[in-house]
Amino acid sequence: MDIISRAEWGARPPESRSTVPWSKRTVFMGHYSAASATQTPRQIQDFHMRVRNWSDIGYNFLINSVSGLIYEGRGWTTVGAHCAGHNTEAIGVCIIGKDQKGRQDVSDAARRAFKWLYEEANDRKGKRLTLLGHRDRGSTECPGDEIYSWLKAGLPIVGSPTPRPSPKPSAGTKPAPGTPVAFPLPAGWYFGPASGPDYSVSGKHERYFRGRTDRAWLKDWATQLGRRGWSVGKGRRWLGGAGNDGIYGSEYRALILAFQDDQGLREDGLLGVNTWNAAFRNPVS
Ligand SMILES: [Zn+2]
Repeated sequence: MDIISRAEWGARPPESRSTVPWSKRTVFMGHYSAASATQTPRQIQDFHMRVRNWSDIGYNFLINSVSGLIYEGRGWTTVGAHCAGHNTEAIGVCIIGKDQKGRQDVSDAARRAFKWLYEEANDRKGKRLTLLGHRDRGSTECPGDEIYSWLKAGLPIVGSPTPRPSPKPSAGTKPAPGTPVAFPLPAGWYFGPASGPDYSVSGKHERYFRGRTDRAWLKDWATQLGRRGWSVGKGRRWLGGAGNDGIYGSEYRALILAFQDDQGLREDGLLGVNTWNAAFRNPVS
């Protein structure tokens, strides 16, 4: 599944923001908008910024209750404004729609999207977040009875499940070559463009992680792809221009996307823990 970025939905920039490390994230909290499912993230953002006078849209993510489309709000590690007193530990996800008695308002697609986002958060955190509804921590009906009872039941999905990508060993596969190397960046960080946030590590600034430079680590990962049979390096199919120099740019992005496609991983062109581990752990087919 994909997350529709702020740029894609035309978000206004935040007036200010503060970040929270993954170590302080412990809760994944469900909300609902209690208004029409036709409301757009931009309309919600305008309401939060102009009427509530908040610095940005209050939620970390939003999901349309009908289409199941997922929208980036403040994102994973920016403190939200969705549950007073609990915005540091809780990632707030709003399901856009209302709760009408006697009918299912949240589609199977939206439920799958919510569950996918929850699992994504757990992957990034490295352990399971506590699943709560807003009413567990505030005096409110939110997120409505339908969503609340679903949360409390552990997010069961009745319709056909969305398969989560996993390596499928089959005939003719070989174990991953070389020695596994643990992901060197903090939880939630990734190798990505220099234009990204602080936790997007590009190699441009030669930052140190676990005693070595970011460039050395990124080179290690691309070298591992070489061991897996990928044509990597100057003059070769991948990283052919600048070579394996450990500085994230369009060539690394293309290689990461191709590897993510090959492995059935989420294709974002960013080298996070899942894409890192796949190179060192997944069998080669
Ligand atoms: Zn709420």
